[in-house]
Amino acid sequence: SRQFSQPLAQISSMMNLLQSGVASVERVYELLDGPEEEPDQPSRPELVPAGLKGRVSFEDVEFDYDPEQPLIRDLSLVAEPGQTVAIVGPSGAGKTTLVNLLMRFYEVTGGRITVDGIDIRHLTREQLRSRMGMVLQDTCLFTGTIEENIRYGHPEAPEEEFLQAAGAAYVDHFVRSLPEGYGTLIDDDASALSAGEKQLLTIARAFLSGPEILILDEATSSVDTRTELLIQRAMATLRRDRTAFVIAHRLSTIRDADLIVVMDAGRVVEQGSHRELLERGGAYARLYASQDSVNTDQSEPS
Ligand code: ADP
Ligand code: MG
Repeated sequence: SRQFSQPLAQISSMMNLLQSGVASVERVYELLDGPEEEPDQPSRPELVPAGLKGRVSFEDVEFDYDPEQPLIRDLSLVAEPGQTVAIVGPSGAGKTTLVNLLMRFYEVTGGRITVDGIDIRHLTREQLRSRMGMVLQDTCLFTGTIEENIRYGHPEAPEEEFLQAAGAAYVDHFVRSLPEGYGTLIDDDASALSAGEKQLLTIARAFLSGPEILILDEATSSVDTRTELLIQRAMATLRRDRTAFVIAHRLSTIRDADLIVVMDAGRVVEQGSHRELLERGGAYARLYASQDSVNTDQSEPS
């Protein structure tokens, strides 16, 4: 059967419990020490190009966690190589599910998803996930030094690349201010680091792994304004030149996305650029207006 909801539902909830987040998806999956996934179909390595361009296409995708409860229907969208696709919509709309399908944590029940024209079911999960990186809302740091955490999955990366990644993620400055620098041990509570610094570490990890496809689940927890700015900047650099799917909670951060996909109840209700969607005056425009007024309220002195 290609349905394996039970163990994967567990994985999915474990994903939500992760403490912090960026790594190649396969590595994160290993970190989870979760239940076995269904074995891959025999792979067709002749189909796997040496490097991916990163064109991702959802074609009439259907999916249900429960056959009695249809969830995703008629889902079609195309991310051209290097584009940023923002997924927005209310809680329960299916945003995380869309990304779970792309990573093959679940299999589509209709239609198909292709990467560079290859049906992702024709790749092994390892082949697929080794080309993807993810930055989750929560981080996934483990017990070890800061350097080991950044190098996770790439222990042999040359020093120069390591330092480049650390620089691009703006971690170099605060790490060097710690008495033990990159040798600082991160223990279970990682109390030496703020939430924002942990997120920057996971961004450094993503820079080092250099995936063609990025999945970013925007943080909702608040960090100080300066660190927030660094996170936004580092994410913008990370997104450049790769295909990125961004699950956005603040519309202000995705105005420049190449494509904004508005989901509701498992369907795409609108897609287009920020400008196109505002002009249409539909769901996105309403969402934007409501967030805008929230932001305005918050910025007023109380
Ligand atoms: P979003 O990320 O937009 O908030 P999700 O993709 O997480 O939405 O969820 C879409 C719908 O699927 C919701 O109704 C949710 O309850 C349901 N759902 C999510 N994960 C599972 C799962 N593992 N098993 C069953 N139902 C799920
Ligand atoms: Mg979600």
